[in-house]
Amino acid sequence: MTPIDLVITNGRILDGCGNPWFWGDLAIQGGRIVEIAPVSTLRGKETLDIGGRFVAPGFIDIHTHSDLSILVNRRAESAIRQGVTTHVIGNCGMSPAPVAETYLTDMRYYWGPISDQSEVTWEWRTFDQYLKVLQSGGLAINIASLAGHAALRMAVMDLDDHAPTPPELDQMKELLAEAMQAGAFGLSTGLVYPPGCFASTDEIIALCQVVARYHGLYASHIRGERETILEAVAEAITTGREAGIPVQISHNAPKFGAPCDATANLRLVEEARARGQDVTVDNDIHTDLAPALADGLPQHIQDRPIIEIVALLQASEARCQIREEIVLDRKPAFGPAGLLRHGQWHRITLLHAPKTPEVIGKTLLTIASEWGRDPFDVYFDLIIENGHEAEAIFDYIDEANIRILLQHPAVMICSDGEALAPYGFLNDPPPYSPCSYGEFTGVLERYVRNQPVLTLQEAIRKMTSFPAQRLRLMDRGVLRAGAWADIVVFNLERIHDRATNLFPHHYPFENYPHCYPEGIDYVFVNGVMVVDREQHSGALPGKVLRHRAGVPL
Ligand SMILES: [Zn+2]
Repeated sequence: MTPIDLVITNGRILDGCGNPWFWGDLAIQGGRIVEIAPVSTLRGKETLDIGGRFVAPGFIDIHTHSDLSILVNRRAESAIRQGVTTHVIGNCGMSPAPVAETYLTDMRYYWGPISDQSEVTWEWRTFDQYLKVLQSGGLAINIASLAGHAALRMAVMDLDDHAPTPPELDQMKELLAEAMQAGAFGLSTGLVYPPGCFASTDEIIALCQVVARYHGLYASHIRGERETILEAVAEAITTGREAGIPVQISHNAPKFGAPCDATANLRLVEEARARGQDVTVDNDIHTDLAPALADGLPQHIQDRPIIEIVALLQASEARCQIREEIVLDRKPAFGPAGLLRHGQWHRITLLHAPKTPEVIGKTLLTIASEWGRDPFDVYFDLIIENGHEAEAIFDYIDEANIRILLQHPAVMICSDGEALAPYGFLNDPPPYSPCSYGEFTGVLERYVRNQPVLTLQEAIRKMTSFPAQRLRLMDRGVLRAGAWADIVVFNLERIHDRATNLFPHHYPFENYPHCYPEGIDYVFVNGVMVVDREQHSGALPGKVLRHRAGVPL
């Protein structure tokens, strides 16, 4: 018999399926869990006594944007330090592949300054080539990828706002089939962002029919998460029903401006499930987001060069028109823009503004009163002064909705962040992304331990077996003999998120720049220790996971 590599002994085992913990030993051999048995009954070449800490499956983050950042930091610092062992990328319509030679420049611009990092080689064109680049340099965590609708559309018709012609749609379908064959887990959309916002429901259904042939899923950042949230959830459900595929509604908290609380969108999900349709939801626990101020501008001008945007904002007629477009929101813009639309200037706090440093830490309301200017004009002027470098914290989600979502059985936990590191390019300047550093530990600290909203085993289920089931990764997300040894060992009493800042903010922000959380002692990926006593071991045992769909129908 092959000797066991490692026995984790003296642990309180949470199997990931929602069951309460039990005492046990867990044996790892060849990257997999080979046995789970009573304490002190297993022997291996090495033994790790964890002194009663919890042992759970490594967390699976079903909604991230690590597509390029993982190339820059393959150690996946901010993810692994909070016990995350798998990231799903390609969300909100955006994946860096496929990409067409003709539109490569636009694609790079779309992804922003990270595109110019030396690790981001853009040597791939197809989805398969991108996955190979991901795997070739080693990864600390596993990666599963969705094919982004925006990428497919840009590869065929760039950022055009018209409907695809039949040949263009056929080309998109071909690229999608190629991505699914390469191992994409499904299709994602971002229907508030360009170019996703230019696509009709029929266009998305036609593409989802391709996904159906490969038994993939449809994940959507829906068409409006505020005033139109119910119509947008209904559209996602219709899309899945028409194409006959499961639907994952991404980060589905209602944002400021929504006419209802989260029970209303969840009711639509429940009704669909009652009719036999497989619809699930994910959500992150942060009430804020820190985009560039320019991201709140109408979609059709966002992707223009900043020099053109500035020129428009300087022309008084164009400025008036842009203001009106933001207020009317006819083509629903992303969530934070609701604060502009509804004049919630006290909920927008300046974070970066290199040309006007005196505004940092102040709300747009305060700046407007200090400058004696209309807040909307201050908003535009800060973009004129600082371009894309003007960034602000938008507090646009009511925490009550986060609690409602956390308690619903069909909602899993995601970060909506990305793999970051507090050094190098990914920290220059430090991005405001508390979810990237403190999502899973934040849930455990605040919503399980301090003010319980859900039980420990239910929180763990929402971080492990549930997202694994959604991806049909049946040998991950659980602690069972035969499953891959993606494992986190943590001390619930010590769990502490050091990245989250609660609203209202006080400058300097308490947990910014972000720090790694405390209390995550050991993390294993495919049986290899990546976090050892809260330190990164440097190991890169992660795998690119490819969806095994079998032959198309
Ligand atoms: Zn999104």
